[in-house]
Amino acid sequence: MKAADLKLSELVDFEEGRLNLHGRRLVLHDLHAFAQLRKDLIETVGADGARSVLTRFGYFWGQADAAAMKRIFEWDSLSDLVLAGPRMHTIQGVVKASVRSLDIDESTGRFRMELTWHGSGDAEEHVIEMGRSDAPVCWMMVGYASGYASFCVNREVYFVERTCAGKGDPVCTAVGMDRESWGAELKTFLPFFQAEDVRGKVLELTRKLREQGRELAKQRQKLRLLAGEQPAGLVEVHSASFRKVVELAARVAPYDTSVLITGESGTGKEVLARYIHANSHRSKGPFVGVNCAALPETLLESELFGHKAGAFTGATRDRVGLFEEAQKGTIFLDEIGDISLAMQMKLLRVLQEREIRRVGESAPRKVDVRVITATNQNLAMAIQEGRFREDLYYRLRVIEIEVPPLRSRLEDILHLARHFCRVFARKLKIPNLRIDATCVDYLQSYNWPGNVRELENAIERAAVLSKDGLILPEHLPANVVHPILGPPGLVSPLSRKLSDIEKDHIQTVMRLVGDNRTRAARALGISPATLWRKLKQMNEEADGRS
Ligand SMILES: [Zn+2]
Repeated sequence: MKAADLKLSELVDFEEGRLNLHGRRLVLHDLHAFAQLRKDLIETVGADGARSVLTRFGYFWGQADAAAMKRIFEWDSLSDLVLAGPRMHTIQGVVKASVRSLDIDESTGRFRMELTWHGSGDAEEHVIEMGRSDAPVCWMMVGYASGYASFCVNREVYFVERTCAGKGDPVCTAVGMDRESWGAELKTFLPFFQAEDVRGKVLELTRKLREQGRELAKQRQKLRLLAGEQPAGLVEVHSASFRKVVELAARVAPYDTSVLITGESGTGKEVLARYIHANSHRSKGPFVGVNCAALPETLLESELFGHKAGAFTGATRDRVGLFEEAQKGTIFLDEIGDISLAMQMKLLRVLQEREIRRVGESAPRKVDVRVITATNQNLAMAIQEGRFREDLYYRLRVIEIEVPPLRSRLEDILHLARHFCRVFARKLKIPNLRIDATCVDYLQSYNWPGNVRELENAIERAAVLSKDGLILPEHLPANVVHPILGPPGLVSPLSRKLSDIEKDHIQTVMRLVGDNRTRAARALGISPATLWRKLKQMNEEADGRS
């Protein structure tokens, strides 16, 4: 196949309402509309910003055309594939392109191509709205030629326009070379190809935030150790149910098995994971925690496994993922029930093969990491509903530790409350901070849906409001003292619908029976099928709101 053989009518399939180039959809645009778009861009983001956007637009277009040409036809040589680029540009009506010279040295990777462009669409667009320019303006065409050639030779090729009809020259001319051949001269125009995008910025910011968060956690841990303080959540263990949990954690800590920690949020699942890490032979290695629900899937993948520079736009540098950061240590994946099925598949592979692949890389890297996961979801139910892979579930829960909710640790509540009193007395500098005996009943009869974390927040609030260090019921959050009123903000009976109260009651009962639907239905005096229907409706309403 030769470039000259390409014909638009044979390439494009004209269907009513659709133009297809071998499966890829094309759209014809009006030149004046494009001129307006260019003007708007220049006025909104400035000439350099507009140049970046249009250069990159052209670049992707060129890449897409090159990929199609390579896929559809058998080319006599690499040069013929490259020459099809200017031909495609011509038959798509962008410009009449002719090739003055082309040299490709496949052994050294050197590339040089000179083009002449007659009747440039870019230049015409620019002149229509912006008038004559004093520098070349065929930004999209330069991008297209660069994207096309780079794809064909599989290395970075950049075109630069030397003369341009947009600044009054008779024709536009452009030179393209590989990155090495350009040398230092490339520096002035490279930024227009590499405009930073939002995703790159988000990735960078997330990384910084995470680093700061980890640093902060480390500092806190150090301070706690200095103060001789144990992490909250593992102190004041008086209840048999929680003592069992800590004993089990201590027993599994020395072995490298996967541990799945389940329990409501706020029960201290991460504290337990840190405890396991600290009591394992990996304790000198890093502990890396990540909340899987906090990141969108695409970010999560590069966060966990890292990526190679250029793996996607915005990936300007190689990036080490958390699995590699946790080398010889422990990685803690919180909210594991929230990851997509595709991510579950990737994670399963990592657990089976003990190696990861950075996004954009084909070679695997070995990782020596202990995996601890946690969730507040019922994974068995998620499996039944097809939201969670059964094989992954069994790999994660070699040992399962269920952390009981605070309301079932009655013996611990008061001790924990007093523990937090000591913590906040020191932190807020309130000497002799103490809980009045009248608070005890309230603290023990409230059901603490937010668990230890909620109790800690309640005591901190009460400490701030207390008079002379004495915490009275009036200093506790209103919903602790008047649980019947439900969450704050729903105090007036006039503002509550009967269906809301029913919903609250169902949720409370479900919590009390540990999400066991059969027991809940019995307690509510309705059939399991009715309960199932009501729960489904509640879920749908919750989904509709979010
Ligand atoms: Zn031009």
